[in-house]
Amino acid sequence: MRPNRSRRLSPSCSALVVREFDCAVIGAGLAGATLAVGLARCGLRVAAIDARPPASATAGRDIRGLALASSSQRLLVALGLWSGLREHLTPIQRVRVSAQGHYGSTTLRAALMGVPALGYVCAADRLLAALDAALAAAPLLTPFYGTTLHTLAPAADRVALQLSSAAGLEHLSARLIVAADGSHSVVRRHYEIASRQFDYGQTAVVANLDVEHPEPHTAVERFTPDGPCALLPLGGARHVLVRTARSTEAQALLAASPAAFLADVQARFGWRYGRFSGLGSRRAHPLVLHRAQQLVAPRAVLIGNAANTIHPNAAQGLNLALRDVATLLDCLAGTADPGAPAALANYAAQRQPDHERTVNFSHGLARLFTLEVPLVGVGRGLTLAACELLPPLRTALMARLMGWRAPPNDWLRGTHEAN
Ligand SMILES: Cc1cc2nc3c(=O)[nH]c(=O)nc-3n(C[C@H](O)[C@H](O)[C@H](O)COP(=O)(O)OP(=O)(O)OC[C@H]3O[C@@H](n4cnc5c(N)ncnc54)[C@H](O)[C@@H]3O)c2cc1C
Repeated sequence: MRPNRSRRLSPSCSALVVREFDCAVIGAGLAGATLAVGLARCGLRVAAIDARPPASATAGRDIRGLALASSSQRLLVALGLWSGLREHLTPIQRVRVSAQGHYGSTTLRAALMGVPALGYVCAADRLLAALDAALAAAPLLTPFYGTTLHTLAPAADRVALQLSSAAGLEHLSARLIVAADGSHSVVRRHYEIASRQFDYGQTAVVANLDVEHPEPHTAVERFTPDGPCALLPLGGARHVLVRTARSTEAQALLAASPAAFLADVQARFGWRYGRFSGLGSRRAHPLVLHRAQQLVAPRAVLIGNAANTIHPNAAQGLNLALRDVATLLDCLAGTADPGAPAALANYAAQRQPDHERTVNFSHGLARLFTLEVPLVGVGRGLTLAACELLPPLRTALMARLMGWRAPPNDWLRGTHEAN
């Protein structure tokens, strides 16, 4: 185990203390915090830097339920985080998919795949709290909350960082910088990495509600002309609703009375699940695709939303991000220098095909189910009907949603099982 080190820069600037790390992860959200925990487990000294406060100070703020695929489950098991989350996980055994106003629907079933669950719903704030607890417990890890990246200066063997917080400026150096700072990554901008964007003109309004006749362990995805609406089970009657709206209408949905909002949702899902009630607070998430045009730069690497921010219609964003984490851990394992160009190039090459497939899948789905062109409307119904009638097509869809097309990876194969 290597202790944290700090050094004075030179006699002429004797007051300047620089703390040295192997890796500085900028952004300790769900992807960055998971990576930081993994890097520390690999014996690297890690700084995890985020503008946010610790999760304990923001409990209940992120009301989303996140559908975790089996690839994510395996990584969280390997990092020793899964068992602590167990009481907050709801297995998904069925996904009912349909399109409002069109014939054709399909049901994806775990039993058809011979697995106990297609995925698990985890409350986002519980996952972040578990990650923060792991950040605090790891001896090689230093979390910096309420801290933003101020400046960044890459050199041949290290990157110098200036951090800014209420306490003032702090100086760090690291051999690898990880951009895990989300869709509007400042690290990505600093390295002048271009990002392709596509504004869906949609906003996801998220809320928790009760369903009168819940179908246990069942997620519901309903495609509507405004965008997809989903219900994810949280256990019992409680569900997470994701109601995608045209962005121009999102403000009105947030401001609507609970009764009016519930009536809108009821009209979209119909009465199959009985009356909706018990509406919690509502949060809006504008939906814009961001695709970084490269994944690595000298001594820097992009993961998660900083690399790809995708439409949440297929619940793939975090699952994709955690596959970034698993691959990066694989590529850095055993390297003497975590910023070595060969290791980073290997990461970029391994991640590219999964990024391509997953982004195209969710983007294609978003376009197929919202384009207001008559033949496309017929295509929606046909796609769902075909899924129901052609088991191989349905199986392929389920495999994709479960993250089974993830690249072979030590961290995902279970060879790093937590002790
Ligand atoms: C409505 C909705 C539902 C979703 N549902 C699912 C789902 O069911 N399953 C799934 O797999 N995915 C889902 N996703 C996608 C998932 O939320 C994202 O893929 C995931 O949050 C990406 O995590 P991240 O850590 O890369 O980015 P972020 O969550 O954006 O985290 C970035 C972090 O960086 C920090 N930061 C930013 N700038 C700086 C800076 N300059 N200095 C310091 N810190 C900084 C931020 O504070 C933040 O903590 C959903 C997304 C939405 C919008």
